[in-house]
Amino acid sequence: MTILECKNIKKLYKTKNVTTEALKGVNFSVEEGEFISIMGESGAGKTTLLNIIATLDKATSGTLMLNGNDIGKLKTSDISMFRRKELGFVFQDFNLLDQFNNRENIYLPLVLSDENRDLMKERLDEIQDRLGIREILDKYPYEISGGQKQRVAIARAIITRPTLLLADEPTGALDSTSSEMILNLFQKINEEGQTVLLVTHSLRAAACAKRVLFIRDGVVFHEIYRGEDESRN
Ligand code: ADP
Ligand code: ADP
Repeated sequence: MTILECKNIKKLYKTKNVTTEALKGVNFSVEEGEFISIMGESGAGKTTLLNIIATLDKATSGTLMLNGNDIGKLKTSDISMFRRKELGFVFQDFNLLDQFNNRENIYLPLVLSDENRDLMKERLDEIQDRLGIREILDKYPYEISGGQKQRVAIARAIITRPTLLLADEPTGALDSTSSEMILNLFQKINEEGQTVLLVTHSLRAAACAKRVLFIRDGVVFHEIYRGEDESRN
């Protein structure tokens, strides 16, 4: 089953005098259960592409299919509901709210989608040990380390069981030990069935995916596959 399909995605940014072609026709798809990363230098178009896949921005042309839905055909009023239901987000800077404790931060997306309390508790019970966050649930984000914050953020992202987990430079604010731990966690979550798309400029981070797309000047110019099935190379 194809979870994500980008067909000839282009993006123009127009300012007064300058038009920048940030994406010049991006084509790729992601199958259910895959762990894919998109790697590129600063200015390559990663953020632009991620924002389009995240349904936060619209392509100038091309087609984006997410879980069988043509995003360009969704009503604007339906898009945020769609995003909440289908996508999970992990950011470089965690985006945890300091006025809520970690447990409340994790529950937040479920509260927003009117899920009931028993379900929230059940889902958190299920993931807290795998993520190693049981002991810090009653603490506040400002009381824990960066690596712990990112584990809380991952819990918040997967508790809704998103079709696709999007991670934007998730180790960008972490030291190397915490980075390794977080990358291992993404691999573990993926092995348990979660489809993951990770965007990064770090080769180390990109290399933890089974498939790496390299983007430069708004196009995918290279792809490597590190799977047991070498026939795809
Ligand atoms: P990356 O995330 O890989 O650093 P971006 O997607 O941020 O790349 O940028 C791709 C290109 O688009 C760059 O040339 C950048 O300057 C340009 N760009 C990005 N956002 C805007 C914007 N809002 N307005 C104008 N140009 C932009
Ligand atoms: P960069 O990749 O250039 O360092 P960020 O990682 O801060 O930038 O953000 C990337 C994009 O993700 C931003 O353009 C923003 O639109 C979006 N974004 C960041 N935080 C959130 C959030 N909490 N909710 C929704 N969108 C966000």
